Amino acid sequence: MAVDPLIELRDVNKYYGELHVLRDINLTVGKGEVVVVIGPSGSGKSTLCRAINRLETIHSGEIQLDGQSLPEEGKALAKLRAEVGMVFQSFNLFAHKTVLQNISLAQTKVRKRRKDEADKRSRQLLDRVGLASQADKYPAQLSGGQQQRVAIARALAMEPKALLFDEPTSALDPEMINEVLEVMRQLAKDGMTMVVVTHEMGFARSAANRVVFMADGRIVEDRAPEEFFTNPNSERAKDFLSKIL
Ligand code: ADP
Ligand code: MG
Repeated sequence: MAVDPLIELRDVNKYYGELHVLRDINLTVGKGEVVVVIGPSGSGKSTLCRAINRLETIHSGEIQLDGQSLPEEGKALAKLRAEVGMVFQSFNLFAHKTVLQNISLAQTKVRKRRKDEADKRSRQLLDRVGLASQADKYPAQLSGGQQQRVAIARALAMEPKALLFDEPTSALDPEMINEVLEVMRQLAKDGMTMVVVTHEMGFARSAANRVVFMADGRIVEDRAPEEFFTNPNSERAKDFLSKIL
């Protein structure tokens, strides 16, 4: 199936000093696609996400969003960051602001929305992530799962073209993982383009169009979930799967 590419990485390389952390990465994420990235700790998954959002520079290669090369700095970079939302393992909410303020802030600052418009949209998004009644609480008054859903609502408030998730459920108690994955499944159904680093293999099987397996800074496999899980090609993937499944 040919899909319109939204995120494209071509021959991307990155080093931390001597460490070659991204090696000849070629990856295309089509509009509306959900790509799950898995792999051992230290394989470069977070660096890949951060490079897509220009939180990290790359040494060679090219990254495009919707046909445009990523800007390095200035206003264009701020716009890019608004267009590619990122959700981290640690929810990174502002502790001294309410849930509603957390979601409205960037809308008024970056998207230049009026406060009442921003708040209206924030409330709609809170409803979408099942937290309509929590608008006036502070992050510390919420569970981890609720905080992560607020972080997702905050990313959505920018109306991003794509969302990157870097282990969004790794810091959560087990009983809270599903409420976050459920919100992500719904986003996927609604057509959001998503790159998701996760160890939740159930999510990968049920929601991903493709699984990208990384090891030592390389993409070792890039395949449909069913094929990957039932019949991994590489020894690295077989070994990895035998440890986590
Ligand atoms: P993953 O998310 O797959 O666990 P990372 O992308 O976080 O992997 O890290 C890939 C490699 O790069 C690891 O060896 C890690 O120690 C190293 N690394 C990550 N960030 C930095 C940094 N800021 N400076 C130096 N090395 C780093
Ligand atoms: Mg990581």
